[in-house]
Amino acid sequence: MVRLARLREALSVAEGDPELVRSQLQAFGRQIPLLYFILLVNTLAVAITHLGSTPAWLSIYFPGVLCTLCIIRCVRWWRVRQRVLTHDKAVPELRKLIWLTGIFGTAFSSWSLLLFPYGTAYEQAQVTFYMATTLVGCVFCLMHLRAAALLLLSIVVLSFSAFLVYTRSPIFIAMAIDMTLVGVALAFIIELYYRTFAGVVHAQRELQVSQQKTQTLSDDNFRLASIDSLTDLPNRRSFFASLRALSEQALGTGGGFNVGLIDLDGFKQVNDIYGHASGDLVLQEVGVRLLAFAEPGIFFARLGGDEFGVLAQHKLANETLVELGERVCEALSQPYRVAGNVAELTGTIGWAAFPEAGTTVQQVFERADAALYVGKESRRGTPVIFSTEHETRIRRSSLVAQELRHADLESELLLEFQPIYDVLTQRTIGMEALGRWHNARLGAVRPEEFIRIAERTDLILHVTEVLLRKALEEVSRWPSDLYLSFNLSAIDISTSPRARRLVDIVLDSGVPAHHVNFEITETAVTRDFEQAHSSLTMIKQAGCRVSLDDFGTGYSSLSYVHRLPFDTIKIDRSFMTDVDSNSASKKIVKSVLDLCRNLGLECIVEGLETASQADVVQALGARAMQGYLFGRPMRASAVSTYLQTTVEQGHAVGT
Ligand code: C2E
Ligand code: MG
Ligand code: MG
Repeated sequence: MVRLARLREALSVAEGDPELVRSQLQAFGRQIPLLYFILLVNTLAVAITHLGSTPAWLSIYFPGVLCTLCIIRCVRWWRVRQRVLTHDKAVPELRKLIWLTGIFGTAFSSWSLLLFPYGTAYEQAQVTFYMATTLVGCVFCLMHLRAAALLLLSIVVLSFSAFLVYTRSPIFIAMAIDMTLVGVALAFIIELYYRTFAGVVHAQRELQVSQQKTQTLSDDNFRLASIDSLTDLPNRRSFFASLRALSEQALGTGGGFNVGLIDLDGFKQVNDIYGHASGDLVLQEVGVRLLAFAEPGIFFARLGGDEFGVLAQHKLANETLVELGERVCEALSQPYRVAGNVAELTGTIGWAAFPEAGTTVQQVFERADAALYVGKESRRGTPVIFSTEHETRIRRSSLVAQELRHADLESELLLEFQPIYDVLTQRTIGMEALGRWHNARLGAVRPEEFIRIAERTDLILHVTEVLLRKALEEVSRWPSDLYLSFNLSAIDISTSPRARRLVDIVLDSGVPAHHVNFEITETAVTRDFEQAHSSLTMIKQAGCRVSLDDFGTGYSSLSYVHRLPFDTIKIDRSFMTDVDSNSASKKIVKSVLDLCRNLGLECIVEGLETASQADVVQALGARAMQGYLFGRPMRASAVSTYLQTTVEQGHAVGT
């Protein structure tokens, strides 16, 4: 039974193995011309030698028909040799080939058997030789089609051996035995060859499968290494790879491209207020909104945190950049619905063009960053294109940073003091210390400038320490009811040891801690809310007071005011310029004053320059005020004179 099954398998098409069927057809296709060449040459040789000795139908017509059929097959094959068959069509084609082999084998065998009786011994030997060589040649050509090769072998060997035995000639019988034995050996060779062939096909397939797996794996790895898993946008690494490729291409072709950096304003607040999971949802939504602007030649990437990048492969005109930037900013400023809340953020974009803004990847990226920086400082929520003005700014920044690093801060840093005035008691209640830097090369540098640069370089820690010591030295000379208000940077409270250091300086100075008020801006608080909370709590526990400075310029989130241990809120001076003429400014000031009253906080109104402004804010309920109206920032040496004058004259407000 098993043998029968094997025999059936050997004579049939491996239908369940498409790869093998395809390879068989392919391999056989290559042998077809040789197969018909052998058949035609051998047949013609035999037909020609039998021309005189056999009837015409046997020496001309019969072989003529067979040869014509061979040529037709050969031509047909030539025409369709390039076609690739589907498995459904390949199986019947293979079956057809097996049948054709059987028919051709029978036809050619019959012809040679019919020739046999006519010839002399030589001619008979030629026919036998013809059969043997043609059989071996054809079997070799059919090697890849085991079924066809075995079928042909069986037809020829069985028919011819039987015929030779039938002649009863001992020589022919010996030939028949010989032929049968060789036939059996050939059958084994066919089987062995076929198995090797099938094995190679399977091995190839396995190799392909494993190569495919490796490719998929490496594609996955590549994807993971170049895609940001949160937003599915390309990540920083892939952004810089594209940036490098674009710069190389631009240098080669003389073309250009644009780099844009996008930073979200207010993202930190979302994280702090609604939690990191909501922050992640916002970033995903930002990714979706940015992708809506992607088009051939414009790619977006997430560079990390709330920073995104955009590359415009073909350099765009400035107007187009502004227009695209405005649309992106507009899309980013739409409300974000997260976990049942609505978060509001804006995005600022800094653009730089290659090669105008920079001729290296780093330069052009830094220039886009500079434009972004300017945008975030003065034009939040809008696109800013890098210009030479920004360049000057960068140069100036690096010069200031360099000088600051090498300066003798002990001797170059000074303080000015600006009074904080209580309009009700008509007394100066405090003095805000304002840092001043006089550098030999740069002259007087504005505090906003050197403080910002010092913050970037961590030099701020030293700057703060020097200024705080100097300020405390002055306080010890002041009347005991006057407190010191001292400005801190975000970095100063960015770790608990840093905050501890400030407290230690105050305690070491001998100035009572409750005479010291530390001012911190909203932006500083929002950098790291948790840390700001613990640092400010530590400062409070030491007995110092803390104020929220410049309220109204940052995110003005009431939740901060509520959650941090502030004693005082200072309303930013930007609201004062038109508080006496603009009802909106008036309303804002009033609502902050009301808020402070409700929360039991002290409120200082900053930047009052005219009596009319002071009258308005006093009518709104303000009591503590600061501004040029009450005194400009003054040198330490001028403080005592100032105090004497105000005690004698007071300030004419609300009269
Ligand atoms: P600030 O803490 O809000 O300080 C008030 C600023 O407003 C001071 O500018 C002051 O001169 C100015 N000012 C006061 N009254 C008026 C007014 O009536 N009209 C106008 N137009 N301006 C007025 P200044 O001294 O240039 O300081 C600017 C900022 O630099 C400060 O804003 C503060 O944020 C920062 N700063 C100053 N000194 C230090 C410091 O020692 N450390 C730190 N970290 N920051 C400082
Ligand atoms: Mg201040
Ligand atoms: Mg202020």
